[in-house]
Amino acid sequence: MQRSPVYPACQELSGFGHRGATKQSVLLHTAVAARAALYTRIGGLPRSGRAEVSGVRVAVIAGGVGAARFLEGLVSVVPPRDVTVIVNTGDDAEMYGLRVCPDVDIVTYHLAGLADTARGWGLLHDTFHVVEGLRRLGEDAWFNLGDHDLATCLHRTLALRAGRALHEVTAATCAALGVEARVLPMTDDAVATRLLTDAGTLPFQEYFVHRRTEPEVRAVEYAGADRARPAPGALEALADADRVCIAPSNPVLSIAPVLAVPGYRDALQAALSAGQAGGARVVAVSPIIAGQAVKGPAVRLLASLGYEPTALGVARIYQGLCGTFVLDRADAALAPEVERLGMRVVVTDTLMRGRFEKARLAAAALGLE
Ligand code: GDP
Ligand code: CA
Repeated sequence: MQRSPVYPACQELSGFGHRGATKQSVLLHTAVAARAALYTRIGGLPRSGRAEVSGVRVAVIAGGVGAARFLEGLVSVVPPRDVTVIVNTGDDAEMYGLRVCPDVDIVTYHLAGLADTARGWGLLHDTFHVVEGLRRLGEDAWFNLGDHDLATCLHRTLALRAGRALHEVTAATCAALGVEARVLPMTDDAVATRLLTDAGTLPFQEYFVHRRTEPEVRAVEYAGADRARPAPGALEALADADRVCIAPSNPVLSIAPVLAVPGYRDALQAALSAGQAGGARVVAVSPIIAGQAVKGPAVRLLASLGYEPTALGVARIYQGLCGTFVLDRADAALAPEVERLGMRVVVTDTLMRGRFEKARLAAAALGLE
């Protein structure tokens, strides 16, 4: 079992993106602040230059907010250009006539330093004139989308209608927002996560946002996943990666839809075997700490679906797919049982309160400490 050193706790840097700041100044501020914070807290690192460890290619299987927070840390310990993120699109929906990709967008916004981290979704300093206008016109606008967030969706919808693929428009959005990491949707094809609940079969956003995850879930399906193909470059990124991370995301709602697309499971297993031979290593970070989700319905959902609602239950879901499992210190007692699943265990602090904790968790997951 590997234990990471203990660093003093620190607070999230506040004041990201001043009110009225231009996008460029927000991005610059973010990039400088992130690195300055890391260098100051770790100490002794060069003030010029980029991230600390280059030449380690990392591929990450990601959902939304949990993944996005982990990725913020990741791109402060390895250069963003060495990172490929493969993001769940099972949450995607059509809202107000537009293609909404919540997980792809929240990952992109966090990597751009433009996410509203206090609210937990959407863009910093966004306004809500359009949804307010829709409500005034009598629309049941239960899905809140900020105006600039809507612009992202409008831009995507126009590009898709013009015949471009989702991965292409995602790359264009990332370039426009200054994101250097490669963000790939898990697929360009349509996949829809649906919840079979005591209130009937619900599309993901209906369950998650409109019904606030209240209905009891009996089963989850990923409609279309069996016919979907991984986005171009995704399997290659997994094959070429020195490290593959399964982000601390909801295993059922965020990671499982990706794994349901043919090709990803095999790619993870291949990366795992290569790791055992001394090459790539596949690492999963538990989204559950001391039997609690940091946010969201993961624990209740795991229990409803018959999984043990703990970090051990998550490790069982990933058995055979990852070689290392990152447990929170609060769950250190679970380490022997996780090891019995054939995984190496890293015990560290996994609650990402601020920039420093995010960077430290990423470093621990990559085995770079
Ligand atoms: P969503 O698609 O926006 O719901 O986000 P994800 O599926 O990526 O992430 C949700 C999961 O992230 C939840 O199960 C949380 O417990 C987990 N999570 C969020 N923040 C943290 C954190 O700081 N540490 C850990 N270990 N997990 C976290
Ligand atoms: Ca999501």
